[in-house]
Amino acid sequence: MSRVYNFSAGPAALPLEVLETIRNDLPDWLGSGMSVMEVSHRSADFVELAARAEATLRELLQVPDDYSVLFPQGGATMQMAMAPMNLSNDDDTADYIVTGSWGKKAAGEATKFCKVNVAADASDRKFTYIPDASSWQRSDDAAYLHYTPNETIAGVEFHFVPGGDVPLVADMSSNILSRPIDVSRFGVIYAGAQKNIGPAGITLVIVRNELLDRARPNNPHLMTWKSYADSDSMTNTPPTFAWYVADLVFQWLKRQGGVEAMAEINARKSSKLYAAIDTSDFYSNPVALDCRSRMNVPFILADDALDKKFLEESAAAGLTNLKGHRSVGGMRASIYNAVSEEAVDALIAFMADFEKANG
Ligand SMILES: *Cc1c(COP(=O)(O)O)cnc(C)c1O
Repeated sequence: MSRVYNFSAGPAALPLEVLETIRNDLPDWLGSGMSVMEVSHRSADFVELAARAEATLRELLQVPDDYSVLFPQGGATMQMAMAPMNLSNDDDTADYIVTGSWGKKAAGEATKFCKVNVAADASDRKFTYIPDASSWQRSDDAAYLHYTPNETIAGVEFHFVPGGDVPLVADMSSNILSRPIDVSRFGVIYAGAQKNIGPAGITLVIVRNELLDRARPNNPHLMTWKSYADSDSMTNTPPTFAWYVADLVFQWLKRQGGVEAMAEINARKSSKLYAAIDTSDFYSNPVALDCRSRMNVPFILADDALDKKFLEESAAAGLTNLKGHRSVGGMRASIYNAVSEEAVDALIAFMADFEKANG
């Protein structure tokens, strides 16, 4: 077997231990004589799995009791519609902080349902900074404030939680479970699974219960958070295989020492990669120092004519998926929880060698 170091932005690397458990379990899950994909979501074994996944997630993030944990399908993108559909009416205004492509997409989606006030927009500097919170033009009566704690494409991460007394809605797709958070500061947290949770196909939503009654009455059943809360996310057939893998990842995280331990490892991984970039004249990262992402590290080569060679040689060395997003160019290393420190060390060593040979 040969495994590469996978720096994909998403779907992204999964822990090898988890993959090996899946392989062992696959044909005969828990002695049932069936795979987990072939059993009813109403069976006792699956209901137990679902309950354990929720309990472990609650423990990892210290989710308070007055919050529901939901596992819908549809990814983060569906939540960009569900947030306004569940928290606003046509005449309400929602505030959006746009610090990257995903926040911009979320704000665009919300305009179909309510009035949108873009309270801050970092597109004037190509999404390489977070406008100072004192400059945000927030409305007096916002239904909620939406922001993106980690912008996956440009590599911009909030290292603070915005204040205020309106419900805070956060798209944490690319940094959920990467460090401890105070869930009580948030009204709603949502995340697609395929970066830090598991395979694509399942979504995590954490919502304060008192917000569940704000949904528009004509919302489709599957676009209503309360439907999921009232049915343990089994309002219709859930994505059982993805849920099973998410449960394994949550247990793996617990064995690593939880999100506190991940926070330390992630800080170490990202600091050494940024240090390698910043101390070289060959590589650079344009993001302001106070909001660099610990999860997605974009970097450009001084001479973009070398991009192709860098990608070919890194792939040949077993370092894959380093091509940057087309809107930024250059390279991007996504270094989520399941990307080991060893992988980051290997990347740094490769970068030094490549610079020596081509710089
Ligand atoms: C990947 C990503 C998305 C899109 O997620 P889907 O699950 O594909 O809908 C949205 N927001 C952020 C911050 C992301 O990183």
